[in-house]
Amino acid sequence: MKRRTKVVATIGPASSDKEVLKTLIKEGVDVCRLNFSHGTHEDHIKVIKTIREIIDEINYPVAILGDLQGPKIRIGNIKDNKIMLHSGELLIMTTKDILGTAEKVTITYDTFPQDVEIGERVLVDDGKIMLEVVATNRKDEVTLKVLHGGVLSSKKGVNLPHTNISQPSLTEKDKIDLELAIKYDIDWIALSFVRSARDIIELKHIIKKSGKNIRVVAKIEKPEAVADLDDIIKESDAIMVARGDLGVEIPMENVPLIQKEIIKKSMIHAKPVIVATQMLESMIENISPTRAEVNDVANAVMDGADAVMLSGETSVGKHPRAVIDVMNRVIMRIEEEYDELYAKEIEPVKNQTRFVTDSICFDACRLSERVKAKAVVTMTNSGYTAFKISSQRPRARIFVYSGNQKLRTMLCLVWGVKTFYYDKMVSTDHTIEDIKYLLKKDGYLAQGDLIVNTASMPIEERGGTNMLKLSAIE
Ligand code: PGA
Ligand code: MN
Repeated sequence: MKRRTKVVATIGPASSDKEVLKTLIKEGVDVCRLNFSHGTHEDHIKVIKTIREIIDEINYPVAILGDLQGPKIRIGNIKDNKIMLHSGELLIMTTKDILGTAEKVTITYDTFPQDVEIGERVLVDDGKIMLEVVATNRKDEVTLKVLHGGVLSSKKGVNLPHTNISQPSLTEKDKIDLELAIKYDIDWIALSFVRSARDIIELKHIIKKSGKNIRVVAKIEKPEAVADLDDIIKESDAIMVARGDLGVEIPMENVPLIQKEIIKKSMIHAKPVIVATQMLESMIENISPTRAEVNDVANAVMDGADAVMLSGETSVGKHPRAVIDVMNRVIMRIEEEYDELYAKEIEPVKNQTRFVTDSICFDACRLSERVKAKAVVTMTNSGYTAFKISSQRPRARIFVYSGNQKLRTMLCLVWGVKTFYYDKMVSTDHTIEDIKYLLKKDGYLAQGDLIVNTASMPIEERGGTNMLKLSAIE
């Protein structure tokens, strides 16, 4: 598929059947997301195994992203699963596990009475219900006044945008889910409700200790994360604009600007960005999207997102296949026509360690633009040059060669990157000629097409990229 912007699809009951999943992947899903907030480990393991079977059958990679719930706070169970909260009335939230009534409900946050301050807002069910703290006994109960009432049912999410939450970012549940992700060596782990760069450092530390090389996505959905954005981007391998919770935690009218800011900053650091939530929400029910949704997907692509994400649309929706089709059409149309997407010319920062490699990637892309080359080609063992070249958004296609299959699946998230397996290490000259031959043979390039190669010389040292070559396909 020639589409450059990648598609992340959440896998759930509507898409976990092997034939359905295989169809979706063939239609264009690049990354399968497992949402650890739902489903059992048994369910997730089954999906992981199915994806790997499909990869073997279709013979090209698809990434797996596991999404850790983080310190998500919820209301407990409610009697008959429904109560009505009226504006102006009082409601008690208790840390004890009770069956909720219109007077008192459980909150799954043990230190809520200690952490909260009078006057702070508490938002329930995506902000549909708004409450304000009027009292706390600092032990197990908080009294709230209903500002905006509504119907409340069991297990609804709670957002506390102003409260200084003392809970750790990695909960006990997250640690257990992370173990599964490590055991099955999935490609990406996303952490929800990240508050600071420290959360990412801590998560990466655990992954490193396991000996696995799982990359980390920071989900930006709290005001604290927006405030610590620069450091979070530096510490993470990728970023998610998690608009669902973000739009509850901060005024929703700020989300479009923050989306643009996150994408811009991440691109400078060559960190892929996923734009998530409600992209084609109405397609959970309907066969076609609203015009506003089509515009939203298009705008995310125009902003420069690496990937757009589907949640309920593919996990529980009625038309997962039609959803992927709409994504393909909208993305391709923008990529065809919208010139500002390409040739970013983000100048490499002068640093000691990677300046040579960064400069080669920068100039490879600039050269490809000037001579209208059809492809920029890189060989990589770490993925570094793939991220760097992608972040320059060359109009030429990005072909990445690696002898590491795991790296190939991971790179499925990155804008424009198409990978090939390659493990012959004769000499740089030989490798370049061999790759050109293969690209022509397989129909990716034709005689006369210009191609820019980056490489590391001498090849056997497997050092940093230090060479650039422009040549034509014979
Ligand atoms: P979630 O994250 O779907 O796990 O809540 C995405 C978001 O909040 O937008
Ligand atoms: Mn969220």
